[in-house]
Amino acid sequence: INEIETPYHYTDKRAAEKLIKPRDKFSHKGTFGHALLMAGSYGKMGAAVLSGKACLRSGVGLLTMHIPACGYDIIQISLPEAMAVTDQDPKHLSEITDLDSYSAIGIGPGVGKALSTVNAVEKLLDNVNLENVKARLVIDADALNILSENRHLLNKIPENTVLTPHPKEFQRLAGESKDEFERLQIGIDFAKKHKVIICLKGANTAVILPNGEVHFNSTGNPGMATGGTGDVLTGIVTSLLAQKYEPVQAAILAVYEHGLAGDRAAEQRGQSALIASDLVEHLGW
Ligand code: AMP
Ligand code: MG
Repeated sequence: INEIETPYHYTDKRAAEKLIKPRDKFSHKGTFGHALLMAGSYGKMGAAVLSGKACLRSGVGLLTMHIPACGYDIIQISLPEAMAVTDQDPKHLSEITDLDSYSAIGIGPGVGKALSTVNAVEKLLDNVNLENVKARLVIDADALNILSENRHLLNKIPENTVLTPHPKEFQRLAGESKDEFERLQIGIDFAKKHKVIICLKGANTAVILPNGEVHFNSTGNPGMATGGTGDVLTGIVTSLLAQKYEPVQAAILAVYEHGLAGDRAAEQRGQSALIASDLVEHLGW
């Protein structure tokens, strides 16, 4: 029988493994890019740690964490492999650092919605669009909520940016829907309109592309419905983008590997005991 062309795809093991780029024997850390994660706020530094660890465990060459000043010791102690840049604000992100040297930037995990952070998000969007900045972008969590509440910022999102909303964040961003089918259609319209990649998270996360294609993920389990697992995904996507995976491939592969780590973790200790740190420990391909 002829295969019918549909915009719907399924990321199984075979599809995911095709996307993996092997590491060249003569590579060095410069080969694998430099990621910047803008994450954390007072009381939510764990989100920064989780995304940073996941980024490192996903193959990036170098990682710099931009964190509020209160997070300095926390990051240096829990992520010895990463470099840390502190914000002048003690508790929240309020500014951006020099962006020239990064191949990918992830913003959102644990950042909160302080007014100063709204400014930081706006500055980031204004600056990633500049000539000298080559970084690809990932936007997650409260950075997405900031976009939802300051809608003029939506027009500043660079093409092929990866957005990783959970259903509530997606609803704030793109509007309410009566069921999952309508939600998916709203996602497709949004991805086309803004030329972005949306990882609509949940069971069988849907990766929605700017051309309207949807790639449903095959990995993952309800054990992952626990705080911090989304921050791990942000780290993985940022890592792959830093390594020069194309944004579409980075999003599809990251979502698959994130779910696979969840399945390995659940197999070892059961779904109820699973915590986000376990995902990080089970990453690797
Ligand atoms: P967040 O809400 O941002 O922490 O993200 C939660 C993460 O866990 C996303 O990557 C979801 O896809 C994943 N997740 C949550 N619930 C489930 C579920 N029932 N089955 C599979 N994955 C899930
Ligand atoms: Mg989240």
